[in-house]
Amino acid sequence: MKTKKILYLLFLSIFTLSGCENTKEKSASKSLFAMDTYMNLQIYGENCEEAIDASVTEINRLDDLLSTGIEISEIAALNKNHGGTLSEDVSKLVAESIEIYRETDGAFDITIYPVMKAWGFTNQEFRVPDDEELSSLLKLVDSSELIYDESKNTLEMPEGFEVDLGGIAKGYTGQRIVNILENYEIESALINLGGNIQVVGYKTDGSKWKVGIEDPEKNGNYLGAMYVTDKAVVTSGGYERYFEKDGITYHHIIDPKTGMPAYNGLKSVTIVCEDGTLADALSTSLFVMGTDKAVSFWKVHSDEFECVLYTNDGRLLVTEGLEDCFESNNKYEIINGR
Ligand code: AMP
Ligand code: MG
Repeated sequence: MKTKKILYLLFLSIFTLSGCENTKEKSASKSLFAMDTYMNLQIYGENCEEAIDASVTEINRLDDLLSTGIEISEIAALNKNHGGTLSEDVSKLVAESIEIYRETDGAFDITIYPVMKAWGFTNQEFRVPDDEELSSLLKLVDSSELIYDESKNTLEMPEGFEVDLGGIAKGYTGQRIVNILENYEIESALINLGGNIQVVGYKTDGSKWKVGIEDPEKNGNYLGAMYVTDKAVVTSGGYERYFEKDGITYHHIIDPKTGMPAYNGLKSVTIVCEDGTLADALSTSLFVMGTDKAVSFWKVHSDEFECVLYTNDGRLLVTEGLEDCFESNNKYEIINGR
């Protein structure tokens, strides 16, 4: 499948950018396919083998718990039963998703699932729903109608509502792996969960990790790269999952206000911050917002994250906190907080 090939190339190329080929440090690496994407883990340090096994176990555990497509997952059960009692992981994710829904004025909305299904993104049977179908499905898209009880860890949803954690689950998984690596005293690692990157510490030669941002149009080329340490670098873009019909491209990031793929002027959004869960949710959110709202949102939250926006008209916007670590052969503009 085309999308999978692109993702595979993406992780291979990030691997090349950041490899620690000349190290004497003990290392372990693993590639796997989970959460519908190719993943690659590179871990350096004394306990790297145990740490990589524990990380893979965690990825598979979270895949089984969070994937809408896995019939026995907790999310599938919640969707079938209009809610239920939540595990610790799902409870945290639902709480954070609702908070981000509020902060992003509804751009991030996990109740998007009925619309994802209508477009065929859930089973690859792609189709274009008409306006009537979308407007009736949009009645089922509204996270403000979710009744989440933090003290009891329960969620109640109105009839017909279904949730989809696809916009946040990989970021959370990356963050969980970082916590696991800490327990194994790992000080250097590169975790690539299909474009959701988490780096731990420095490369074994003491330099920072170099993480490239893929050029959505040119397979294997980069818009730019940044040198980072202890950060999540998460990219969302319409090019990651899409289909074409009658010459129009329809992608997988949906504007909850219209039920249509979000065509708000952006080709890709990369978020950089410490917290992988936040980075993932915000990459999806800012993509939905579009350029102007994304920049305004960053100005209000500039102490929480940095970002790189790539617009449909070819502008590359980089927020000021990345100025010293970003490099590119392309022209780019620095966005200042004031
Ligand atoms: P990402 O690749 O992180 O941007 O996430 C895209 C995935 O998030 C999609 O495949 C859907 O599962 C889900 N999704 C799509 N649109 C939204 C939205 N507006 N809010 C939250 N999740 C979404
Ligand atoms: Mg996301």
